[in-house]
Amino acid sequence: MSLSIVNLIYLVASVLFILGLKGLTHPRTAVRGNIYSGLAMLIAVVVTLLDQRIISYEMILIGLAVGSLIGAILAIKIQMTGMPQLVAIYNGFGGGASVFVAGAALIEGLAMGEALSYQFTIAVAASGLIGAVTFTGSLVAWGKLQGVISEDSLRLPGQQALKVLIGLASVALAVWIVIDPTIIRNYWFLVIAGSLLGVFLTIPIGGADMPVVIALLNSYSGIAAAATGFVLENNVLIIAGSLVGASGIILTQIMCKAMNRTLTNVLFGVLQPSEDTPNQDEVYEGKIKSTSPDEVAMLFDGASRVIIVPGYGLAVAQAQHAVRDLATLLEGRGIIVEYAIHPVAGRMPGHMNVLLAEANVEYDKLKEMDEINPTFREADVAIVIGANDVVNPVAREEGTPISGMPILDVDMARFVVVIKRSLSPGFAGIPNPLFAADNTLMLFNDAKKAVTELIAAVKDS
Ligand code: NDP
Repeated sequence: MSLSIVNLIYLVASVLFILGLKGLTHPRTAVRGNIYSGLAMLIAVVVTLLDQRIISYEMILIGLAVGSLIGAILAIKIQMTGMPQLVAIYNGFGGGASVFVAGAALIEGLAMGEALSYQFTIAVAASGLIGAVTFTGSLVAWGKLQGVISEDSLRLPGQQALKVLIGLASVALAVWIVIDPTIIRNYWFLVIAGSLLGVFLTIPIGGADMPVVIALLNSYSGIAAAATGFVLENNVLIIAGSLVGASGIILTQIMCKAMNRTLTNVLFGVLQPSEDTPNQDEVYEGKIKSTSPDEVAMLFDGASRVIIVPGYGLAVAQAQHAVRDLATLLEGRGIIVEYAIHPVAGRMPGHMNVLLAEANVEYDKLKEMDEINPTFREADVAIVIGANDVVNPVAREEGTPISGMPILDVDMARFVVVIKRSLSPGFAGIPNPLFAADNTLMLFNDAKKAVTELIAAVKDS
């Protein structure tokens, strides 16, 4: 295959990658976006393999079949709550692949005895270092989210100093490789240093901040792939890697903004209650009104507009189908039902959109925070299901761990019903005065059980 034909096909694949990313920006076009990106990847891989002329058609087909099978099994088996872990593993493998491809290219380049250009050696060092950080960092992130690695594990004394030391050693090794690439063991030392750096950078970060770190590692895996593209002089890898690198950074930014935290705070700080944070007793004592499904069903009797606010607990309880059934039931009685979606509700970006889409909730009923917030005043009932921090009004005050975090103005609704199992706090670990507000009723139960009982109560009413 001539170089110009290969590059032309790569260009087609790159356009498809861009269209794929564009499609992923909205739930309605997300499936199409995924198909475009998958097709782009297929085209890129097959053309690259055919261009190499060392791999037979049979081997390509076997590879495609095995890869598709593993991908399909993982995609079907994974629970919605386990999605961040799956993304972590995918990032890690991407980083690991960059390490080995760049290493192999270096060994091959040296064996051929050609003079290696700076572009080549810089790209090899970048692939090795960033790829190794991504690989081990992602494995640690996976382990934390999966509960295999505990929050306090591997907290060594002098960890910060160790991090700086390994970072400096990595940079020194990378520079050495660029200047003198002939000492091949330096590359593997760089990979070891990068691997340690990945572990030490990720291990102190709180489990609930892991999705931000995963978005960042996703970006790193893209940068490592782009560097590998320069090693191999492969245009589609450079373009695809850059797209992943840029989109990962943008996503990291969006998540930090939605939590009103800086990336430095996520990476090096800890989100926890301060000394000034009031304790649960001060906020809740004598003010909590517990309710029952029958009582909530009566609230719906005179209602014309209901807003459902999903949160992490809804995902844990897998209550999305029950919630959809409740909404359909209410709509059948002439009530307008909408869903208020906070950008970081849940534990990964778009968590609630994906979850509700899985239960076939129509996209135009999912309202973004800025759109729905001014309308809470006109809602008769706001039902908060397994959400906590994203509806905590203390975010509007100064000096709390979530100060400045944009929240859903649920407390403005006429009645608020909060479904959760207890008064225990959310991710930020602070009490929520919404639960003690005059217009709030607490329905203490597992989200799925509560909504199922609510459906029965509405049917009986
Ligand atoms: P929260 O973590 O604030 O609260 C979730 C609530 O769900 C808990 O209070 C818990 O209370 C309840 N819950 C848990 N299991 C169940 C169940 N089975 N049935 C009913 N309720 C249940 O979640 P939010 O969605 O409000 O907020 C997300 C938080 O995560 C924010 O602080 C955000 O900044 C953070 N975050 C989000 C990221 C993202 O990308 N989306 C990334 C990183 C962090 P109880 O135990 O009493 O039932």
